Amino acid sequence: MALVTLQSFERDALATLLEYARIPALSPGFDSNWAANGHLDHAAELIASWARERRITGAVVEIHRLEGRTPVLTVTVPASDPSDESTVVLYGHLDKQPPLGDWSAGLAPFEPVRRGDRIYARGVADDGYSAFSALLALEALEGDGRGRPRCVVLIEASEESGSEDLDAYLDYLAPQLGDVALLICLDSGALTYDRLWVTTSLRGLVNLEVTVRVLERPLHSGSASGVVPSSFRVLRQLLDRLEDPLTGRIRVEALHSSIPEEFVRAASDIAAEFGDVVGEEMPSVAGLRLMGVDAADRILAQTWRPALSTIGIGGVPAPSDAGNVLRTHTTAVLSLRLPPNVDPAIASAELRAALTSDVPDGAHVEVRELNTAEGWVRPATAPWLARAIDDASREFFGREPGLTGEGGSIPFLASLARRYPGVQFVATGVLGPESNAHGIDEMLDLPTAVAVTNVVTTLLGAFTQRRGDQ
Ligand SMILES: [Zn+2]
Repeated sequence: MALVTLQSFERDALATLLEYARIPALSPGFDSNWAANGHLDHAAELIASWARERRITGAVVEIHRLEGRTPVLTVTVPASDPSDESTVVLYGHLDKQPPLGDWSAGLAPFEPVRRGDRIYARGVADDGYSAFSALLALEALEGDGRGRPRCVVLIEASEESGSEDLDAYLDYLAPQLGDVALLICLDSGALTYDRLWVTTSLRGLVNLEVTVRVLERPLHSGSASGVVPSSFRVLRQLLDRLEDPLTGRIRVEALHSSIPEEFVRAASDIAAEFGDVVGEEMPSVAGLRLMGVDAADRILAQTWRPALSTIGIGGVPAPSDAGNVLRTHTTAVLSLRLPPNVDPAIASAELRAALTSDVPDGAHVEVRELNTAEGWVRPATAPWLARAIDDASREFFGREPGLTGEGGSIPFLASLARRYPGVQFVATGVLGPESNAHGIDEMLDLPTAVAVTNVVTTLLGAFTQRRGDQ
């Protein structure tokens, strides 16, 4: 098998990856003017023209544009054995998170910097590398004696906005995707860089906007305070219905689920080997007491328990503009992470009921659902695939693979699992320690990208050999 090396990755892909890094291809949720700005189209075209240069026999590179939706890039590659019609889908995305704060000295979101074998720029690891890895893996399979399955590389552009355009494309592309038998998702995380990490579960998500209104117009707090209940105080009470203000435990019982035994065991195994790998990853201030009783508990909290974050506040002036006023309203945007097997529609309805029933002091409450994402639990892995994952991790990382849940969501996996029951999944990626996918200083570790690429080649090769060993 022709391996991808750091040198060949640099020679074949790095210049285009760096060019991609310079495009502020923000996901539509962060750039309502994305269509006019054209950055997503620019990124799709850049990757498409790079894809057309690859030496992959029969590859068809297309950019699809459904009315009013972000573009999707596909590269469809025929099987070397035309009688095998099963398709492998290789998934990634090209839209990016916004800069999310000031980057460290010498780094900038859209001006890539290389330090050693690491590239710093927004979107390089989440998930710009994916298209490059998928296509380099396919290129490496050319001329390989084991043959090549039918593959569709699918790179979407709305992932960071909850993949809001993806379902429409999955409908539209269903004939092209054909008989999907294996899905390789290159948008997931890694606990360390010393082995291949395979994702076994993802949490779901509900985003709600809650507004508490108490006045028709703002009033001098000298006259209104103590008479008109503060919208902030009412909001605090409502939030206390959702979570215990002392411990952060979610109080809406429908948002909890029982954690399957294998995940409890996996968490204690990881804690035994790595210690407090979740806690130590956090850039906490000195002396901060983390939630959870121990390392395993924090792993389960991150991957299987519900949690609330207040991610936006409205109706409140910036500190420098604050005056002695009783404000008319307070708005909060809530992000609720859900256990992998909790239905976000049910969770959302329960949250709405908790926020709107019997509201303190007769204040007016409005709840708007902004976004939901389904969680995901990996279906049982076929023996041929488990073996291929194990072999690939040992060969390209030097040791056995690691299995872990992820605290985030990849709506695509839930969509695919629903559409293609029985499909095999491999969700992996390069988002290890310090990769900072949704923070400042996002980083791609090039050797890891190379190793993941070679793993993909190995899995594709193994797929063609799977017959008679399902
Ligand atoms: Zn991503």
